This record gives sequence, structure tokens and C-alpha cells, in this order.
Amino acid sequence: MTEKLDTYGSSQRRRVTSRLLLTCLLFLALLAILQQGRAAAQTSGDTYVVQRGDTLASIASELDIPLEILAATNQLTDINALKVGQVLLLPEGAARRTVIARPGDTIQSIAEREGLSDLRLAILNSTTPTARLFPGQPVRLLRDTVPLATPFGSVKIVGVPSTIVQGQTGWLEAEVDRPLSLEASWNGAPLGIRPLAIGRKDETGGEVTVWGGHVPISASLEPGVYSLSLSYEATNGVTVSRSFPVFVQGHIFPVQDIRLPADKDALVEQEISQEELDHLSPIWSRTVTPIQWRNPFLLPLQSDFPTTSPYGVSRNYNSGQYFSIHTGQDFAAPGGSPVLAPADGIVTIAEPLTVRGISVILDHGAGLFTGYWHLQEALVVPGEKVRAGDPIGLVGTTGRSTGEHLHWELRIYGVAVDPMPFLTRPLLAVPSTIELEVEQETEEGQ
Ligand SMILES: [Zn+2]
Repeated sequence: MTEKLDTYGSSQRRRVTSRLLLTCLLFLALLAILQQGRAAAQTSGDTYVVQRGDTLASIASELDIPLEILAATNQLTDINALKVGQVLLLPEGAARRTVIARPGDTIQSIAEREGLSDLRLAILNSTTPTARLFPGQPVRLLRDTVPLATPFGSVKIVGVPSTIVQGQTGWLEAEVDRPLSLEASWNGAPLGIRPLAIGRKDETGGEVTVWGGHVPISASLEPGVYSLSLSYEATNGVTVSRSFPVFVQGHIFPVQDIRLPADKDALVEQEISQEELDHLSPIWSRTVTPIQWRNPFLLPLQSDFPTTSPYGVSRNYNSGQYFSIHTGQDFAAPGGSPVLAPADGIVTIAEPLTVRGISVILDHGAGLFTGYWHLQEALVVPGEKVRAGDPIGLVGTTGRSTGEHLHWELRIYGVAVDPMPFLTRPLLAVPSTIELEVEQETEEGQ
């Protein structure tokens, strides 16, 4: 758990590797464009009208279509030669997560056509149910997940990620058309899934509830196929359940060699680390606190300091005496820099620890916690509620740290995952004009 600043070597190696990978990918994409040509021009019949500011890459990303397939479908040899107003054909199967607005469409009319709740679609698309959409505008049906064609019982829509990369977090979503208590499990262990929004389905007044939850994958989980299950108790008392396969894809994390000074015995160090982990585990495994945040996280520092050791680095102590996986992201921020809450939350810990030094842990609800180690000083006390952007401490080098830096960690159900994607990913982007029924603060969570 010892933190080191001197890891530029490994992050540089990673940068070189990713540049090489990018070059290869671009080359493959070009090959695919040249080879597929007309052959790939099977389209779904849907079209997309190019808007100001669009690039082919941004459209491909927005519609979740591989760039080379979109280029090939439209026989584009120069992907930079897009014109505003140009009509692009969409390849077959492209609209699985997205539909394209037709002239006169609103979220309501699309919801009706697709048999979905307008409220949910409005939330997913950060708009209101009645807002006019421009023809060709992509409208999301699901976020970060692939809808499966196998709804079951009262579960009308299920979005389960087909693949999650080691160290990343998947998103599970379900829409049910009557009040029920949905449960989810990952390989038999319970996952938190909870109601995020309740809305009316149509004029007949049917109610739908949108359930959602994270699927955190540890950097050390073996790649392979795992089972994600959803279940609920039917009115006749029978448990209705369905399992979905999810592939955990391996990721190559950089390796960092660490030599402990002669006066530090590696095994004693490991024992101390374990003791501290045993103290913290029950704290960050709680799932009772209601959701405190909805928007993407803010960076926990005032500016974008360089990363000195990314999440997932595999640390090899004294040539194999023991290994550990870096459970967070290290930023080279100077001592005394304010550390900011990335989202609303409740302070659960603000205390000095042996390995992590002066530490603050925030509970953001729904089983999601963030941790800040090696602080010079904590500016909050346990039980205090903080808002996104509030200062919670100062960067330091307390505990087992070799230099001033911030270690930022994100845990869901106790599993440490890569915190960086949370800077761009909302739980749900809620437009202020929509009133949501969300879970009530019935528990204190402390
Ligand atoms: Zn660290």
C-alpha cells in the first residue's frame, strides 16, 4: 500500500503502448474502409442528419457504431469531409441503443412508438417529454448497456452490459411496470440495484419504475464469463428470476517494482496493511445510504495535476515478496492543495491511519464511497454532509507515502474500481424541469 511518486516510467510505457495501439487501430480502420466499401452498405433504413460541430467520430460514438462501419456504410473515403445537413445512412443494427427522431417527434411520441416510459427517455436524454426534437437527432433508449430482447415477467426492459473490462464499472438497468422489489446478484453475491425514477407509462396511468445499479469489477477479477441475475417475488409468492452472461475482459495494467528499505520487513508491512483494510472494509461495504448524487463527478482537485500512478498498477514488492494492486489514482498535487468533494456525500471517516495517513472517506450513497489518503489535514468531521466542490482536506504526505500527492480511490460495494470514468458519467442526468420521485431518505446510513 506504500505510495510512490516515482512511477513516471510505468505511465510513460503505457502512453507509448496506447499510441502504438491507436496507430494500429487507425490502420485497421482504414483497411476495413477500403475492403468493405459497398459490401457493408446494408442499412437499417435510419438516417442521421449532420449537425454543426459533428465529426464522423463524434457521431459514431454518440450512436455507438464503429467508426469504420459508419464510414463504409456511407462510402466515405475522407472522414473529415462532412457537411452540415448531410444525410448519413446508418448500418443495420446500429439503432439498438439509439433511435433517430423523425420530423415532428418529441420524447413522448418516441416513447409511445417504442413502448417505453416518456419520463425515463427524457431523463436519459437530458430533456423533457414534450420538447421538440430535430429530425435525425439520436435519442437514447438505454445508457451504457445493451438492451436484451428477453424481458421476463414484470421486467419489461433489461439492459445488461455484455462486456465489462477489468477494473471498470458496468451499469445495469431495468424497467418494471408494477411496484415490486427487484434484486440483482453477480455470481451469487448481492449487487445493489434500486429505484431511480418512477413515472407514468401512458394515458392509462400505468406506473413504471426505472431500476439501476453499478456492477463494479475488480482489477484482480479473472477474465471470463460471469453470471448476472435479476429476481423479484411475484404476487403469488414465487420467485421470478433470469440470469445473463457477462464477459469480463482482461486489461494489461503496468507493473511497478518497489524495493522496501532494509529496516522494513515486507511481511510485517503486509500484516499492517491487512489490519487497516479490516478496519475500513465494513465501512465502505455499507449500502444503506440513499443516493446523494446524480451528475458526473468533479475532479477532487482544483486543477488537472498529472497522474503519477494510475489505478490498477500492479506493485511488486522486493522482487516478488508480495504483490498489491494500486486501488486508486495518484495525482502529483503540491502539499497544501485543497482536496474537493467530487460529489455530494456524507463524511464517514476523517482520521489518521498507519498506512493511508490522514484519511477522509465520503459516502455518496447506493454503496459508492470515495477515499482520500495521505492528507496534510482533514477539513471535515464524520457525519458532516458535504456538497460537490466543498473542500474536505489538504494534500500532504502522511502515512506510508514518499512524497506529496493525492491518492483518490472509488469503491462500490467495497470493490475498488477505476475512479476516472466517473468524471464523465452521470448516474442519471436529470433535467431540472422534470420532477422525479426518488428514494426517500428514510435511513440515516450511519
Ligand atoms: Zn495511490
